[in-house]
Amino acid sequence: MSASNPGHPEGVGGGPLVDGPHDPEHDPRASYVLEPDEVAALTERVLATSGETVSVTSPLTGAPLANIPQSSAADVAEAYRRARVAQAAWARTPMEQRAAVMLRLHDLLLERMPELLDIITLENGKARKHAYDEVAHTALTARYYARMSGKHVMSERRGGVIPLATRIDVNHVPKGVVGIISPWNYPLTMALSDGLPALMAGNAVVAKPDAQTMLTALMGVKLMDEAGFPRDLWQVVAGPGRELGPAMIERSDYICFTGSTATGKLIAKQCAERLIGCSLELGGKNPLLVLRDADVQRAAEGAVRASFSNAGQLCVSTERLFVADQVYDRFVERFVARTKAMSLGATLDWEVDMGPLISADQLETVVAHVDDAMAKGARVLAGGRARPDLAPYFYEPTILEGVTPDMTCFGNETFGPVVSLYRFHDESDAIARANDGEYGLNCAIFSQDGARARAVARQIKCGTVNINEGFGATFGSLAAPMGGMRESGMGRRQGEEGIRRYTETQSVGTQRFIKLSPQFGLSAEQYAKVQVLGLKMLNKLGRA
Ligand code: NAD
Repeated sequence: MSASNPGHPEGVGGGPLVDGPHDPEHDPRASYVLEPDEVAALTERVLATSGETVSVTSPLTGAPLANIPQSSAADVAEAYRRARVAQAAWARTPMEQRAAVMLRLHDLLLERMPELLDIITLENGKARKHAYDEVAHTALTARYYARMSGKHVMSERRGGVIPLATRIDVNHVPKGVVGIISPWNYPLTMALSDGLPALMAGNAVVAKPDAQTMLTALMGVKLMDEAGFPRDLWQVVAGPGRELGPAMIERSDYICFTGSTATGKLIAKQCAERLIGCSLELGGKNPLLVLRDADVQRAAEGAVRASFSNAGQLCVSTERLFVADQVYDRFVERFVARTKAMSLGATLDWEVDMGPLISADQLETVVAHVDDAMAKGARVLAGGRARPDLAPYFYEPTILEGVTPDMTCFGNETFGPVVSLYRFHDESDAIARANDGEYGLNCAIFSQDGARARAVARQIKCGTVNINEGFGATFGSLAAPMGGMRESGMGRRQGEEGIRRYTETQSVGTQRFIKLSPQFGLSAEQYAKVQVLGLKMLNKLGRA
C-alpha cells in the first residue's frame, strides 16, 4: 500500500479539514492518499451490488481515502448462501490443513506489517505503535489457534452410565456460519481475530466491519486469501449496522459482536428470538488501583499506557485511577509529568505517543465529558483541550481530579483520553469503589506484592485483571479468556472458551455388551435391585 502524502493541502497536522472533495476516485480536486487501484483491489472483496458507496476520510487530516461499496439485504442473503456452501467443504478439511493455512496467515501478517500499519493509521488515526499492537495481536491469535485448536475441540471420551459397557464420546461440532460485527477502534484485530478460531472450529464467517475502517478489515481478508483460505469461507458485507445487523442475525448460527453496550443489548434480544448464541464484548469504565506498596515509577508509566493507548479508544483502557494515600502525591506528580511529556501528532511515523480521535462524534463526547466535569468543579491536571492544530479531532491526554458522582464522566464510559484520579485510605474501600457501577470489563492493579495483588483481584468484578500492567498481560496472552462481567458483555474470546463458543457440544453414547433393560430372565423388580446394589458400590468406589 503506498501511502505517500496523506493528502492534506497543508500536510499532516497542517490545519483544518479538507472541505469539498470526498471522492478521490472521481473528483479531480481530491488528492490521493491511497492509489485508486489499490483501494479497488481491497473493496472488490465486499459483496455489494447496490451501486451505492460511502466515502471514508482519514482522521489524520480529514483527506478522503476511499468510496466503500454498500451491501443490500439481498447481498447479505447471498453472502450467507456462499458461506454455507464453503463451510460444508471446510468442515471436512482436516485440522492440520486448517492449521497450516492459519500459520501462513501468521507469517503474512508479520511480513506485510508496514502496509498494515499504514492503512490502520490512515484510517483510524492511532499512533503507529498502537497500530503495531493490533497487528501483533492478530498474528498471536493466528498462531495460538493454529497450534491449539486441535486440542480445544478434539472429541473426548467420558464415563458412561454403566462403566465399560457404555461408551461416551463428546464431539465439538461447528455451528455453521458465524456472523461477526466489529467496531472501528482496533480495526484489524477486532475484524479478524474473533473469526480465526471460528474457522479453526470448521465454521464459515460473514463479517460486517465498522464503516469507518473497512479498508483495514479488507486488507486483513486479502491476506487471508493469500494465505490460502477458500475465498467464499469469509464473506464481507458493508453498510449501516442497524440495517445489516438484523439481516445477519436472521441467517447466522452464532453472532460475535464487539461494540457498545447499547447495541449489544439490541443484538442479544434479536439472537434470543432465534435461540442462537452470541458473545458480546462491550464497554467498560475500567479502574486501575495503585496500592500503597506499588513501585510508583512503574505505576505512573503503566497508567499512561493504560489510559492513553489508542487515545483511550480501547475497551480495556483505564478511565478511573484509585491511588493509595501513602503514594498519592508521588504517583500524581510522576503521572502528570509523564502525561505532559507525551509526544502528540497525526503521522505515519513511529515517534508519536498518541494520535487523534477517529471522528467528530468521538471528539464531541470527550469535549462534553471534560467540559461538564470542569463546569462542576473538577480540576484539570493535564490536557483538557482539543488540538485542531494537530488534526481535526485531536484531544490532549487529560487527567482530572475532584470528579464527583454528579459529573457525566464519573460512571459513563468516555472512550477517549480522559482519566479521573481518586485517593483512597482503605483497600476495601478502593475495591468497593472499583466495583461500583454496571460495567466489569478490565481492572489493573499495581503492587510489589504479587500474591496480595492477586488476592485483591479475586474481589474485583471484572472479566480480566492485570497486575503491574494496564491490559496487555491478559490481552496479549492468547490462552487467557477475555470478556466482560455485568454490562460489559457475555462470553469470552481467546483461550479454549474463545473457540468452544463456535461449536455445539454433541454427546454420542454407544451401549455395548449389556442392555439398559432387564435381561438374563430378571423381573423389573429384580433388575432394579441389582442396579441399586451397583449404584451403592459405585458410590463406595467414589465414582461420579
Ligand atoms: P457500536 O455499538 O455503535 O458499533 C459497533 C459495531 O456494531 C459497528 O460495526 C456498527 O456498525 C454495528 N452496529 C451498530 N448498530 C447496530 C445494530 N443495531 N445492529 C447490528 N450492528 C450494529 O459501537 P462503537 O461506538 O462503534 O464502538 C465503541 C464501543 O465498543 C465502546 O463502547 C467500546 O467499549 C466497545 N468495545 C468493546 C470491546 C471489547 O472487547 N469489549 C472492544 C472494542 C470496543
